[in-house]
Amino acid sequence: MPLLLTLNAGSSSIKFSLTPLPGAKGTPLPAPLAHGQVSGIGGAAARLSLRSSLHGKQEQALPTVASGRSGHEQALDAVLHWLEQHLPEEKVALVSHRVVHGGVHFAQPMRLDAQVLAQLDALAPLAPLHQPHNLAGIRSAMAAFGQALQVACFDTAFHRQHPFVADTFALPRRFYDEGVRRYGFHGLSYEYIARTLQAHWPALHQGRVIVAHLGNGASMCALRQGVSIDSSMGFTALDGLPMGTRCGQIDPGVLLYLLTEKGYSPEQLTELLYQQSGLKGLSGLSNDVRELLQSEQPQAGQALDYFVARCQREIGALSASLGGLDALVFTGGIGENAVPIRQRILQDLGWIGIDFDPAANATHGSSHAGAQPQGQISQPGSRVSVLVLPTDEERMLAEHALALWQAV
Ligand code: ADP
Repeated sequence: MPLLLTLNAGSSSIKFSLTPLPGAKGTPLPAPLAHGQVSGIGGAAARLSLRSSLHGKQEQALPTVASGRSGHEQALDAVLHWLEQHLPEEKVALVSHRVVHGGVHFAQPMRLDAQVLAQLDALAPLAPLHQPHNLAGIRSAMAAFGQALQVACFDTAFHRQHPFVADTFALPRRFYDEGVRRYGFHGLSYEYIARTLQAHWPALHQGRVIVAHLGNGASMCALRQGVSIDSSMGFTALDGLPMGTRCGQIDPGVLLYLLTEKGYSPEQLTELLYQQSGLKGLSGLSNDVRELLQSEQPQAGQALDYFVARCQREIGALSASLGGLDALVFTGGIGENAVPIRQRILQDLGWIGIDFDPAANATHGSSHAGAQPQGQISQPGSRVSVLVLPTDEERMLAEHALALWQAV
């Protein structure tokens, strides 16, 4: 049976899933046979952890996995080795890669060849902390699965229909023309949520919806009739909401001050804004919302206050972009699970038409026993509906690749 492999290559991890390819055209994708990740790439304690429908949950320590391209090759080798041992009859025939940046032109998933790969290389400066890892994952997979069809799916693609005013900065026009634009990210997640709305809440799908993808990386997206018209993220995945370790929206004057008065180098500034800021920087404790919720340190409380306030502010801003609001959807690790954070965001939003249901909120999440993973957390008569919906970026990767595979 041929297999479809999805790969989501980050700086220190590769998430993957393995799904049997359906034979006949139009047959829906079955559930994955296995999914998991190699974590700790570039560190001392690399691990392969996975869950397989045939073999249950497995964890395995790996010999030191280097960073960079060779690290991704070693990580893929570990997955390959597991496949050979546990599913010796199966062959990977289709590989779908998550790629952060598709630039101005890639608005659809693409079949990967040398020409597309060269174009993606040229986009690496636009996403220096993500794109090189994605490309290392692609090159490793091309070497490992030479016969397979390889597909790239872009986080920016879902936002390429933004109107000019949501796509630009007020810089001299030449910068827009050369690609300095507000791209927006988390597109595979938003696409999955838009599809879920279409399938299960078709009336809301037709309306004005804000999706809050709140995870270690966090952003919001404004959907009108399922189409993205605005996003909190901009040129890079730094803008908008504060995140685990990223600053979110910041006055560019602060950056000029750090460069000119404090002597920061571009590398130090990059490290500060991507790795040392956000919840971690403000709290001085952790980027993890669970730890901050448990902490009694005032700085932990202030970091969460800031996160909640910026989420509320972004909901106001995107409602203005949409000309009103019919539904708000929470997704991502925090959005799906952090009951107190949802409560704090929602309890002050009566003015926007949200009649919040604290009891329903308390019973929704995927990380506590007996909770509902998805459903409504606003009162039945609320003018704006509020939903919790788990996202599934791997599923979108798989479906996009299958569509290209079947079109060949
Ligand atoms: P990523 O952007 O890396 O994909 P996730 O969407 O997995 O991140 O979200 C990770 C974050 O979700 C964690 O850092 C943690 O703060 C938060 N989270 C996960 N489960 C819970 C929970 N039960 N309560 C509060 N926060 C949670």
